[in-house]
Amino acid sequence: MGSISALPAAARRLQGKVALITGGASGIGEATARLFSAHGAKVVIADIQDGPGRSVSADLGGPSNCLYLRCDVTEESDIRDAVDATVSTFGGLDVMHNNAGTMDPYSPLAEIEKSRFERVLAVNLTGCFLGTKHAARVMVPKRRGSIVMTASTSAVTGVVGMSVTPAYTASKHGLLGLMRHAACELGRFGVRVNCVSPYGLATPLAKKVLCVERDAEVEEAFGRYTALKGVALRAVDVAHAALYLASEEAKYMSGHNLVVDGGFTSSVCLPSDYSFSDKK
Ligand code: NAD
Repeated sequence: MGSISALPAAARRLQGKVALITGGASGIGEATARLFSAHGAKVVIADIQDGPGRSVSADLGGPSNCLYLRCDVTEESDIRDAVDATVSTFGGLDVMHNNAGTMDPYSPLAEIEKSRFERVLAVNLTGCFLGTKHAARVMVPKRRGSIVMTASTSAVTGVVGMSVTPAYTASKHGLLGLMRHAACELGRFGVRVNCVSPYGLATPLAKKVLCVERDAEVEEAFGRYTALKGVALRAVDVAHAALYLASEEAKYMSGHNLVVDGGFTSSVCLPSDYSFSDKK
């Protein structure tokens, strides 16, 4: 991940704000924690990976700047405690980034056990509901706040191949419904709710799902199907989209799904070596 150099005060878009990021110990969440911190926010990382979580916290100035909390998003008491600890430590909660996610290994739909399907929904959808519920609990009385959910292009499309599973696709489609409902209900209290939806990118989650070791292998695999060529999606690019939705620049944005996908969901891109004449 590229480093984010310190920004001059005038350029900091989250100066004085407090953000809680689930799944902030790795990948997109880590990049977002680093970017939000560079933009002046106090950050709380809520994750189940203690080592990486503490290491990002230390890197960002320690608990007075960036606090790591162990929090399993499937446990309501963990989420409730994380929100309460954020408010008591930093004096409020301005941005809730419901980002933690998981994916089950691919297998044909007819062979998937119910428990596996439910586990993915528990993390990706119920975890996001719990984060939204407890963020709303403290944001509504203040009449302000921004809730950002990390969905996916799998919230918009069904895809065969790319190792995407039905549980993952269903959970991410569900997030769009949750986000739209929450935007309607919480908007009257000044709380904005949006999704950021990345296409595939090299993170530990994607490498595990694709069973590859190197970032370049993930980028090559996903890069075949985007409209936009010559550039690879990185975690920091998703973090920039989350920063926009979190910041005052997006003060009129609510109920929106911001795809970050190089045109993937706008097009059907066959590989450049595909030819109809070959198929006749
Ligand atoms: P990642 O594995 O790097 O990060 C996910 C983080 O979520 C990890 O730190 C993990 O410990 C944490 N987490 C998992 N289960 C948790 C739980 N029960 N409670 C708390 N934390 C938990 O992967 P990532 O790619 O950065 O994933 C972040 C989000 O982005 C996920 O919601 C994922 O679905 C979404 N996403 C990823 C991609 C991709 O290709 N990498 C594409 C679209 C969307």
